[in-house]
Amino acid sequence: MINARTCVRRNRRVSRRETASARCRVSERPTARRGGMSAVAIPTVINDFSGEWAFLSNYYPVVVEFEGVFYPSVEHAYQAAKSTDPEIRDRIRSTLDPDRAKELGRAHLDRPDWDDAKVPVMRQVVAAKFSGPYFSEKLLESGEARLVEGNAWGDTFWGECEGVGENVMGQILMDLRDELREGRAGFGDSPCSGADSVSDQCGCKGLSRVVDTKLRMQTGEMLAIGYVDPTGEEHVALVAGGVSGKEEVLVRVHSECFTGDVLDSLRCDCGEQLRMSMAEINRAGAGVVIYLRGHEGRGIGLMAKLRAYRIQDAQRLDTVDANLALGLPVDARDYSVAAAILDDLGVRSIRLLTNNPAKTTGLSDLGVKIAGRVPLLVQPGATNRQYLVSKRDRMGHELPDFWETPDVMA
Ligand SMILES: [Zn+2]
Repeated sequence: MINARTCVRRNRRVSRRETASARCRVSERPTARRGGMSAVAIPTVINDFSGEWAFLSNYYPVVVEFEGVFYPSVEHAYQAAKSTDPEIRDRIRSTLDPDRAKELGRAHLDRPDWDDAKVPVMRQVVAAKFSGPYFSEKLLESGEARLVEGNAWGDTFWGECEGVGENVMGQILMDLRDELREGRAGFGDSPCSGADSVSDQCGCKGLSRVVDTKLRMQTGEMLAIGYVDPTGEEHVALVAGGVSGKEEVLVRVHSECFTGDVLDSLRCDCGEQLRMSMAEINRAGAGVVIYLRGHEGRGIGLMAKLRAYRIQDAQRLDTVDANLALGLPVDARDYSVAAAILDDLGVRSIRLLTNNPAKTTGLSDLGVKIAGRVPLLVQPGATNRQYLVSKRDRMGHELPDFWETPDVMA
């Protein structure tokens, strides 16, 4: 069994070791397909992992998960595995340069078992890289070509230098390719893989993981993971630290609000809640912000929300009555995408950053284990005080009484 980082097939026999860690994984979806590769002659030997075949290199920028932590390349994860010190691993993870990662790994090798462990570790990390349909398809595109980590720096263990070497790296890639072709590797054939596949069993709801990349923001650096749901809506999970397999992970499930999040509108508290959540999670060192698209105006859409604002002003209605006056639901949001993303990230239980009990209940009903709720109290201003009071009194948001009193920050 190669890899535990993939969806478990419904009828596939699962090893005991895998059972503990295997989770339903949302599939990676190709963002673009290389046209015409099948028509192009595949070389007999690929010994230069650059250009068309650069993706075979361990330096290729692709986020891989190793022992619950995301690394920016196979090289990073492999080098981090040389040390048992979480601080060293974090330093390796934090550098963007794979050469620097290699230097750090070599300088901090502290595992006496490394000689025996290095090949299995490499295998595990490389398997993680090729665990999604996009990279597994690319690997299959190499056909029957002999894969050789050709190098000019004298590495005759992992590759070949001037035609001489054990080429262990190339062999790992070819073994994976064989297993992939025979459907033994477990990638590319899982119930959650394929852009449109849906598995009721694992609850992925046809959600596809499309891409992940580091994002540096005012509040700190997070891993941005992009998902597309079956309706084509795009969502992003911002992840700080290691959350896979963890309990009580700090999570904000944030509903998109163009006016609040982007324009800093004072009609609502969304933008401030988003920024507070990100700051809080970065301060804690680990957590997830799930940014849900299609949730504008509690799910009624941006245009309807703007109409609701207009009617609120014209008829002095509150946020609830304005929606009702327009024949729209008070809250049309569905949290199944958030539940599937948390499942994909391997989060076991969450502490939810929210004041909204409906959100807690909605996620809990979808099987998300809620370990607690963390309030997000935004200081009300003159413009949004009435809105916040309506959220408290009419929608049950847990907000303190003092919010009704005038404040100095308005
Ligand atoms: Zn808002």
